[in-house]
Amino acid sequence: MRTITNHLPTSELQALDAAHHVHPFTQNDALAKKGARIITRAKGVYLTDSEGETLIDGMAGLWCVNVGYGRKELADAAARQIEELPYYNTFFQTSHVPAIALAARIADLAPGDLNHVFFASSGSEANDTNIRLVRHYWALKGKPEKSVIISRKNGYHGSSMGSASLGGMTSMHEQGGLPIPGIVHIDQPHWYAEGGDMTPEEFGLQRARALEEKILELGADRVGAFIAEPVQGAGGVIIPPSTYWPEIQRIVDKYDILLIADEVITGFGRTGNWFGSQTFAIKPHIMTIAKGLSSGYQPIGGSVVCDEVAAVIATDEFNHGYTYSGHPVAAAVALENLRIIEEEGIVEHVRDVAHPYLAERWHALGDHPLVEDTQLVGLMGSLALVPVKGERAKFAAGAGTAGYITRERCFANNVVMRHVYDRMIISPPLVITPSEIDILIDRATVALDEAYKQLK
Ligand code: PLP
Repeated sequence: MRTITNHLPTSELQALDAAHHVHPFTQNDALAKKGARIITRAKGVYLTDSEGETLIDGMAGLWCVNVGYGRKELADAAARQIEELPYYNTFFQTSHVPAIALAARIADLAPGDLNHVFFASSGSEANDTNIRLVRHYWALKGKPEKSVIISRKNGYHGSSMGSASLGGMTSMHEQGGLPIPGIVHIDQPHWYAEGGDMTPEEFGLQRARALEEKILELGADRVGAFIAEPVQGAGGVIIPPSTYWPEIQRIVDKYDILLIADEVITGFGRTGNWFGSQTFAIKPHIMTIAKGLSSGYQPIGGSVVCDEVAAVIATDEFNHGYTYSGHPVAAAVALENLRIIEEEGIVEHVRDVAHPYLAERWHALGDHPLVEDTQLVGLMGSLALVPVKGERAKFAAGAGTAGYITRERCFANNVVMRHVYDRMIISPPLVITPSEIDILIDRATVALDEAYKQLK
């Protein structure tokens, strides 16, 4: 057998990657031309590639490495658990200590009466669980027709058939015949792109009331749940106007609709509280969690369910489960990760470092000739790239071209930022320090300067 290690030359690794590895969400023509950038190790907020270059990771991987890279405590927790009990399931009246301890810890941390956890290995699986949970719940309550789930255009809830259907990404729906039946989408609260002449507050109310209109159109007796991210992440870090969430809450309460807050990105400190629901005063019946739950060190996610929903579900067998629901190694690592977040005061650190330090530097990017609409909550931020300032104008070259060019310039300058069409995004590890923020913003500024020249 051929041994493939870090010691092979980059070109050889790239050739093997191209020959055998099918990449998720990747522009394959660009990949074929340049080859993948191969990341070999990481520490703190920094990544190292196969050429020995060091990059600052402005995205915490995929919004997940909350405690930063290279945490020996998490490696030790995994090793201990693998030695003691590497696997057992939680089906058929069995359980194990890591799953019990993690569920109890999440119940402590989660707001309100979100006291019960159904485990999955990812956010996608957890959202698939939510579809089944919602429909099973209403069926058990004698209302099986309350099966429709309302979601939002440009929301992201995962990549499986169910979760991608909940999501409102046209490019995903175009492949594979999505959405599945029983899921409908309303417009998003993206004031900068769609708010027209309205103030953000007027627009926030209008977009929340689209939920009420949809419920009335379908009939409240047919609608089981509304799902949304407190802040749209993959849609472009879109922070809703202040009027949006209170109005959504009024509507779901009025029509007896379950509210699912998808906290896969916003959970575990990202917005300056343990959960985005606390930052935006949302009271969900179900919360989707993943990513920051283990800081990405192990694949784990879950649905955190309120007392009422859990009590109803417990009256019957729930014919649902994954081999790795509550996987002991993933659970042990997640538990240790939560200990680190709490004992190191990482949620408080997010608040301290985000305001005023990052906020001042981030919003100052709005003075750049290519930039407007800088948005930030906690340690997630976005900015719009524009051809002309002050007009909320779009590039003629096609949505995403400016974003793609800017992302490439970021990559060339050893800073990882992501683009969603022509919005640039950051979501760094939560342990980032002010001096690392300086490095991030300084490199991003050079990238913006270069992109500006290229786009002129
Ligand atoms: N929900 C949200 C809000 C997400 O951002 C993501 C992933 O980015 C998911 C769900 C899907 O999670 P996963 O990729 O772990 O399946």
